[in-house]
Amino acid sequence: MANTITILPGDGIGPEITAQAELILSRVDELYGLDLRLQRARLGGEAIDADGTPLPQATVEACQDSDAVLLGAVGGPKWDNIDKAKRPERGLLGIRKELKLFANLRPAQLFPELQHACLLRPDIVGQGLDIMVVRELTGGIYFGKPKGEEIRNGERVAYNTMIYTESEVRRIARVAFETAMKRGKRLCSVDKANVLEVSQLWRDVVTETAKEYPEVELSHMYVDNAAMQLVRDPSQFDVVVTSNLFGDILSDEAAVITGSIGMLPSASLGRHNPGLYEPIHGSAPDIAGEDKANPLAAILSVAMLLRYSLERADAAKTVERAVQAVLREGYRTLDIMEEGATQVGCAEMGRLALERLGKE
Ligand code: NAD
Repeated sequence: MANTITILPGDGIGPEITAQAELILSRVDELYGLDLRLQRARLGGEAIDADGTPLPQATVEACQDSDAVLLGAVGGPKWDNIDKAKRPERGLLGIRKELKLFANLRPAQLFPELQHACLLRPDIVGQGLDIMVVRELTGGIYFGKPKGEEIRNGERVAYNTMIYTESEVRRIARVAFETAMKRGKRLCSVDKANVLEVSQLWRDVVTETAKEYPEVELSHMYVDNAAMQLVRDPSQFDVVVTSNLFGDILSDEAAVITGSIGMLPSASLGRHNPGLYEPIHGSAPDIAGEDKANPLAAILSVAMLLRYSLERADAAKTVERAVQAVLREGYRTLDIMEEGATQVGCAEMGRLALERLGKE
């Protein structure tokens, strides 16, 4: 049966980088006989201009009927001054909601070839950096009720509620354990169980869920310590699972350490719905249309799509090896350029990776 992939190029550099990712997908399809059916739909600013809304119904339906969705990026100055409820970012939040995506997977990986870009001392990253942060995406303090602002005793007070049900914790824990099974089989659950009741429940449920995955080594860490350990000794982590708020902060921290925003992919997963794959960077309007964007985060998003939605780790590795090959040979886009390397544009970087696909 055909695997349908919906591509949402979006705005800014989105179309440039997804064009390269699409070429890679088609070639992987030829190499592995995946029977892919690629289709495109509009999201974000592009959809506002064409359809008057950042998330047209046709896009929702195309994505829902797919096996996976690949997104470029949305947004740009052109749409910055329109009504907040109709901005491009609404399209992104909307499609995540429509697809019921509750798990966000963000790898922070440092390719040995890009060590110069890393923000940590060489003696620290010398041990390697390859972490997957699994963040709960739809619960916790960002959505908990009650929330609000009011006057009490003559002064303004504001409050939010950090709340998780055990089923919410169990489903994200399962995603994290399953992710760990596909990697180094080590999972660190991050919480603040020494202070927060909600974290104690989190810890209890993750510990219970561990019984379903006897091969995975589970540890727990308080979030303040995790923030320190990420910069002190990142090589100790394989998969990290944590709540929405803590994951928001830690996934950015882990990513920035690598020093190359144009290199990092991400995945958002639901239970039975198609996963959404996208680079972590935005639409980079400052370089859009100039053939300067780094397409490798989009290409590595394809690798995640192959691994997590199509369950084709073999094809995913082929894509990752092609990316590593172009880096090893010294090709760099402007954002990761260094002395002695060969600078190439977006299309050329894509072409070089394509050429190496399946030959590494
Ligand atoms: P950004 O990630 O777009 O850009 C930050 C800096 O990194 C810029 O200098 C940009 O040129 C550079 N950069 C980003 N990706 C690159 C790549 N692939 N290759 C080379 N350089 C790259 O963040 P921003 O400037 O804060 O936001 C720009 C727009 O993107 C805004 O409209 C914002 O709302 C939107 N945005 C969208 C998403 C998304 O679609 N998921 C995420 C973040 C921001």
